[in-house]
Amino acid sequence: MIENSLDAHSTNIQITVKNGGLKLLQIQDNGTGIRKDDFAIVCERFTTSKLREFDDLQNIATYGFRGEALASISHIAHLTIVSKTCNELCAYKAHFVDGKLQGAPLPTAGNQGTIVTVEDLFFNMSVRKKALRSPAEEYQKISEVVGKYAIHNSKVGFGLRKSNENNDIRTPPDSTCVENIRIVYSNTIARELVDFELENDILKFKARGYMTNVNYSSKKFTFLLFINNRLVDCNNLKKCIDQVYATYLPKNSHPFVYLSLELDPVSVDVNVHPTKHEVHFLNEDQIVEAVCGALETRLLKSNNSRVYYTQA
Ligand code: ADP
Ligand code: MG
Repeated sequence: MIENSLDAHSTNIQITVKNGGLKLLQIQDNGTGIRKDDFAIVCERFTTSKLREFDDLQNIATYGFRGEALASISHIAHLTIVSKTCNELCAYKAHFVDGKLQGAPLPTAGNQGTIVTVEDLFFNMSVRKKALRSPAEEYQKISEVVGKYAIHNSKVGFGLRKSNENNDIRTPPDSTCVENIRIVYSNTIARELVDFELENDILKFKARGYMTNVNYSSKKFTFLLFINNRLVDCNNLKKCIDQVYATYLPKNSHPFVYLSLELDPVSVDVNVHPTKHEVHFLNEDQIVEAVCGALETRLLKSNNSRVYYTQA
């Protein structure tokens, strides 16, 4: 749902959670909105406004392209959407059950943008519901995801709160990556960051991000990885980066690394299941090696300048 809001060019995204998302998960954005006439189809499976031509499949710039998120949600929770585009005079509100719009969308007050409200998650699937962790742990997971998207999309303001409470996460619109790392993680991390950027024409990838220098270390490796703007896991890459640091950090301690990797869309498997975040891509070993090599070079450079700085 966050990705839908980003696709809609929102500059502010507010997430509200009740009971770890089990009772309520609401995402409000100020994006382009959904046209009244499109309400009837947004929750049908494989309905997407993001694939206009078959060729687009080879060149997916938006997050969504399968039209499955809202459809799936409407089968396992109570889904309500309120939305207003800039061309409509008022907002419209509608409920969805099992992929189908219930009645006609009703006019209602509302600002431009969309509010997607998901209530009583897995109300009809007790087995799935029991598989979830405690509300506190689920909230923690939501908070991690929101924080990471806020760092990766620093121009967009993000808010996360439990209903009736103040925001736990609040990043302003038009912020910076480092500022959001400070807000979401800590100043301890933010002040030890070095930036990196590389481009490889042969392997056709770009990488940029921030990594902590050797003055920082932690018991836990915090690794934020976005591939083509989607939050994913890649154990291969994670291990290799940790290895780079092992030479420079005390034993059993780890860095903080935020890495945004852009790959040729055709080389990422677009058919990975949407709930599976572990990804594989073409030339993975070579790309991992190239990225890790560049990070090590950058780390050494920052290390030298640090030594120089402390001696001065
Ligand atoms: P997908 O993102 O793969 O297209 P979804 O099920 O996530 O599929 O969404 C279906 C459609 O609903 C989207 O293509 C988009 O047109 C519309 N939509 C969903 N969320 C939003 C939003 N926050 N703002 C504007 N349009 C939205
Ligand atoms: Mg989507």
